[in-house]
Amino acid sequence: TKKAVLGPLVGAVDQGTSSTRFLVFNSKTAELLSHHQVEIKQEFPREGWVEQDPKEILQSVYECIEKTCEKLGQLNIDISNIKAIGVSNQRETTVVWDKLTGEPLYNAVVWLDLRTQSTVENLSKRIPGNNNFVKSKTGLPLSTYFSAVKLRWLLDNVRKVQKAVEEDRALFGTIDSWLIWSLTGGANGGVHCTDVTNASRTMLFNIHSLEWDKELCEFFEIPMKVLPNVRSSSEIYGLMKISHSLKAGALEGVPISGCLGDQSAALVGQMCFQDGQAKNTYGTGCFLLCNTGRKCVFSEHGLLTTVAYKLGRDKPVYYALEGSVAIAGAVIRWLRDNLGIIQTSEEIEKLAKEVGTSYGCYFVPAFSGLYAPYWEPSARGIICGLTQFTNKCHIAFAALEAVCFQTREILDAMNRDCGIPLSHLQVDGGMTNNKILMQLQADILYIPVVKPSMPETTALGAAMAAGAAEGVGVWSLEPEDLSAVTMERFEPQINAEESEIRYSTWKKAVMKSMGWVT
Ligand code: ADP
Repeated sequence: TKKAVLGPLVGAVDQGTSSTRFLVFNSKTAELLSHHQVEIKQEFPREGWVEQDPKEILQSVYECIEKTCEKLGQLNIDISNIKAIGVSNQRETTVVWDKLTGEPLYNAVVWLDLRTQSTVENLSKRIPGNNNFVKSKTGLPLSTYFSAVKLRWLLDNVRKVQKAVEEDRALFGTIDSWLIWSLTGGANGGVHCTDVTNASRTMLFNIHSLEWDKELCEFFEIPMKVLPNVRSSSEIYGLMKISHSLKAGALEGVPISGCLGDQSAALVGQMCFQDGQAKNTYGTGCFLLCNTGRKCVFSEHGLLTTVAYKLGRDKPVYYALEGSVAIAGAVIRWLRDNLGIIQTSEEIEKLAKEVGTSYGCYFVPAFSGLYAPYWEPSARGIICGLTQFTNKCHIAFAALEAVCFQTREILDAMNRDCGIPLSHLQVDGGMTNNKILMQLQADILYIPVVKPSMPETTALGAAMAAGAAEGVGVWSLEPEDLSAVTMERFEPQINAEESEIRYSTWKKAVMKSMGWVT
């Protein structure tokens, strides 16, 4: 049978903390034609440690590509129309592998991991109070969150890593680097690179000069030879070469030409290209990014300064202010996996709906300390305000409300730093399928929340970057190329006064979550 021709298609790998997806878009309309998703395991070998298996991650990418191609076949869509592939990924998560064998030398140390807390404390003593060069060069506070300290830990504690570095066989990368290297041939000529957005989360990258920073590498004692080449977010890095997997091999020779950390990808996918435009993504964590244009804005209120994107080798770099919340969707997964009060994440909505209130119960999910705006590693999760009346439905509701309150705290900080309050909030991510959450968010922020009909904005952003790359040129990044995307709006329904009372009680609960670990 003759297959339908649609014009150029672009694929995107979206490798998140919770799952991996491969999606294929029509570059003329941004219509999502087909996709496949695989949940990935998280290991917690000790309290505070979070790891993932880099090979499982890679395997999940192959599986998603294969299954998506199969589905396209069933839709009579010819996969030879896929002209480019973009990669978007969970940021900061750190992998070290052997370039001769292609084998990871340790599990991936996930961004949420807290094992480097003492490393961070020791290092911070060496930063002069009046000259925080780490912050001024990277835009980041010294924290367990970023890759440099995770890599430091691997170099200090894993013999295999030390040996491979000595023998010049070790490569370091965030997940984007690990995937691009593997997908472009791995030990047989794989390309070892990253993009400016991912590099800006390592704490080794100077966000002004856009280069690895020698002084930072010396400070963290990181050998520069293990670092990937830093490229723009939109250019051809290499061609797909995955011959060992028969069906994924159908994309052999297709250029990989887009790479963005997931939050930057979502910013692009939401078309936040103007100074002052912002989006909030609700995944494992929650990340609000506001485009600050071509200037680096430093926050007075606990936000990070980060590279937003650089869409082409000769294109300018754009920066963003970012409010990072460590735990959002992860609290729902915790209720599912650790308490077992739900079987699937979607069920949380049904529980919350049954009661429609937390009945005075507050849940601060500070499982990995608190990120923005507090940056408080001593915090741990608490559920408080319990009475004999409280049941699992109230706790479910409080968990959803916690995600909204955390966003409110970020938005307040953002408004203070930027001076212009947002008129509405653009949202996306896995949790935004939850209508109760969206309505609660509008009520707690007291501004409308606007969600695209197609919530896969992270993948869309990576696909757009890939399709727009020089030498590919199938995506123009103009609004008319997004005609398939429509918007859904949630208007605030409770009054501001009621919302303020709930918010101030939340803050009281946050104070109680601090100081648990000394
Ligand atoms: P990531 O990009 O970090 O992997 P996703 O954007 O895929 O995350 O979102 C997955 C997260 O969202 C999971 O933590 C899951 O528990 C949560 N989630 C998914 N669906 C819902 C829902 N309907 N209600 C609440 N949370 C949800």
